[in-house]
Amino acid sequence: MIILKKIADLQHYLAPQKAAGARLGFVPTMGALHSGHTSLIQQAKAANTLVICSIFVNPTQFNDIKDFEKYPSSIDADIEMLIEAGCDVLFLPSVAEMYPGGPANTPTFNFGYLDTILEGAQRPGHFKGVGQVVATLLNAVQPHQLYLGQKDYQQCMVIKQLLRLMGIQDKIELVICPTRREADGLAMSSRNRRLSEFVRPQAATIYQCLVSIESKQHTSHFETVRKECIELLKDKGFDPEYVSLAKADDLTLMGDYQPNTPTVALIAAKLGDVRLIDNLILN
Ligand code: AMP
Repeated sequence: MIILKKIADLQHYLAPQKAAGARLGFVPTMGALHSGHTSLIQQAKAANTLVICSIFVNPTQFNDIKDFEKYPSSIDADIEMLIEAGCDVLFLPSVAEMYPGGPANTPTFNFGYLDTILEGAQRPGHFKGVGQVVATLLNAVQPHQLYLGQKDYQQCMVIKQLLRLMGIQDKIELVICPTRREADGLAMSSRNRRLSEFVRPQAATIYQCLVSIESKQHTSHFETVRKECIELLKDKGFDPEYVSLAKADDLTLMGDYQPNTPTVALIAAKLGDVRLIDNLILN
């Protein structure tokens, strides 16, 4: 695996390979890698000639400075995992490389409704930062396929819209990969490392709530199930931010279950100072 830190070096490395017909699969990450990330690398590897992974903890997408400062980092272990997973290129830029004129002089995108609900409402400015960094990364890599995790469902929809706003939706195929989970159902996340051994057993409650939202869809009203979930989360020590139901294709929020409508349940909750999110598409 080759490690490159400059956009110019990355483009210089990729251009001849593209000219020779290589297909590029791209996996953007913030590092502190786990098997959720490597599953994306493996899926990209299976469908492309070259897999490029980026590790960049993007300061502009953290609405909470403490969350940014505490974001886990494990670059040596990450490099080992990427080699093991078959990654070809690691792009490891600095903040100065990604924001040469500073964030204020880097283009932003308007995601409209998507930026007003759920993560957009709870984390003001978050998707603006995501849009900035992903646009810069896509311009640098210009992949054929972009691999994202369903774990960040709303982010997938925002980036789908970003591709349209950048006019590159026909050039880059978005591939959304299933959420990898721990044995008890907890969605793998870099932030899980910050859960203490005392609270870790409670963390899977979010997934249990999602499963209960799914299993009660034909027998209860959503508001009843939502209240049960909030109570359960609180009992287990969480501070719930939202327990929501939305149309899977455009994230229109739903007040109740609607049969024959593709639906996603989404939860965000804090356990101590660790904020966790998860979602489940209802069958
Ligand atoms: P992050 O490093 O958290 O920015 O995540 C980088 C990419 O990995 C994003 O597309 C995430 O949605 C994806 N990802 C994170 N956790 C998981 C998981 N448990 N399963 C599958 N993909 C994931």
